[in-house]
Amino acid sequence: MVLADLGKRINSAVNSAISNTQDDFATSVDVMLKGIVTALLESDVNIALVSKLRNNIRSQLLSENRSENSTTNAQTKKLIQKTVFDELCKLVTCGGNEEKAFLPKKRKTNIIMFVGLQGSGKTTSCTKLAVYYSKRGFKVGLVCADTFRAGAFDQLKQNAIRARIPFYGSYTETDPAKVAEEGINKFKKEKFDIIIVDTSGRHRQEEELFQEMVEISNVIRPNQTIMVLDASIGQAAEQQSKAFKESSDFGAILLTKMDGHAKGGGAISAVAATNTPIIFIGTGEHIHDLEKFSPKSFISKLLGIGDIESLFEQLQTVSNKEDAKATMENIQKGKFTLLDFKKQMQTIMKMGPLSNIAQMIPGMSNMMNQVGEEETSQKMKKMVYVLDSMTREELESDGRMFVEQPTRMVRVAKGSGTSVFEVEMILMQQQMMARMAQTATQQQPGAPGANARM
Ligand code: GDP
Repeated sequence: MVLADLGKRINSAVNSAISNTQDDFATSVDVMLKGIVTALLESDVNIALVSKLRNNIRSQLLSENRSENSTTNAQTKKLIQKTVFDELCKLVTCGGNEEKAFLPKKRKTNIIMFVGLQGSGKTTSCTKLAVYYSKRGFKVGLVCADTFRAGAFDQLKQNAIRARIPFYGSYTETDPAKVAEEGINKFKKEKFDIIIVDTSGRHRQEEELFQEMVEISNVIRPNQTIMVLDASIGQAAEQQSKAFKESSDFGAILLTKMDGHAKGGGAISAVAATNTPIIFIGTGEHIHDLEKFSPKSFISKLLGIGDIESLFEQLQTVSNKEDAKATMENIQKGKFTLLDFKKQMQTIMKMGPLSNIAQMIPGMSNMMNQVGEEETSQKMKKMVYVLDSMTREELESDGRMFVEQPTRMVRVAKGSGTSVFEVEMILMQQQMMARMAQTATQQQPGAPGANARM
């Protein structure tokens, strides 16, 4: 089952529990949990983790609801959504490790070493990470310490040239630790902030490979070791990551191939098996297909409720700094105006590929699933026309003036060559983002709204 299906099935289990008024509360919770549990198991999530999630949701829902007989329907709905959301987040979070996450510093040498099996996507991910950091103002170099596979250096070189990232490697040296050391020395001398070292893989976990990684690691002393894990390998991910953990004590996981048909659940379980956080996910073959992993963002996207955190993270790299700052200030105040919405739509259209970005806006991923990328792109263009037809006063407002004076909607629809319905849809989406911004400030930073629609 692909992740999008998993999200849909969880949503449908939650929604049926919310709308069920015939059974008693405990029965609806059990029916909902059965749906969620089946969906997670079919996505390869480890059975012990699923069972824990089930028990946690059940006990929380039943105890909280019993304590408040007067609970209204809306409150029950919120409680169910929030409890399921929080427990799903716990499933992909590993015990507090996130706070200890490595953050590279500018004007210092930060060495990042990649490990993983051949074909997991290591070389591609090294380049993606280099691009990710260079877009954020770091001076990044790539070192190919894979002397085992013929053609490894050429592959890294081609990727690096395409991405305009300086690189180092050797066609003659056979000792990978030596090449790694030389590369690091060269980039250190040239005052690079981040040096990413790609190591060799094998088809299987072999003693020789682990030995080699220990040797390289002893020589280069990385600040961070990232294990690259192919999300499509299912349950095998757990055993593979445990074996790597024993030899090269990696501190972070980068999950590749989360696009396409990956079930993803097996890889997610690897987090629990090694108590190591997933820090990035690869979502395609292109060098920009890398996303910072955050449990809340991931679950928000999985459930199609939009993801203000990731959207903002993406916006910072592409949009006009002043615009991004103004939107950030608004979000921090719990505000999200139509103008913020317009700027985001314009930026999103520059960012591409649309499929990666659409998931961050509430309702967009559903649209993508239903009508495909081209039609969604057309619809997004229309949305910008609608926003273009609004006055400055309207754009800077929270949108309520349209509800109070519906003739404004008629005027905007006429001006943009769209329908009143289309204008209403945009207002609805902006309202959802505004609610998310509001709850994000009320709860812990970045938390998606407890009242966001699932
Ligand atoms: P390595 O042997 O571990 O260095 O793996 P490569 O970097 O050569 O990648 C193996 C294959 O996986 C290549 O065809 C990549 O384009 C592909 N690949 C890597 N990451 C992703 C990803 O996130 N999504 C998809 N769809 N393909 C990926």
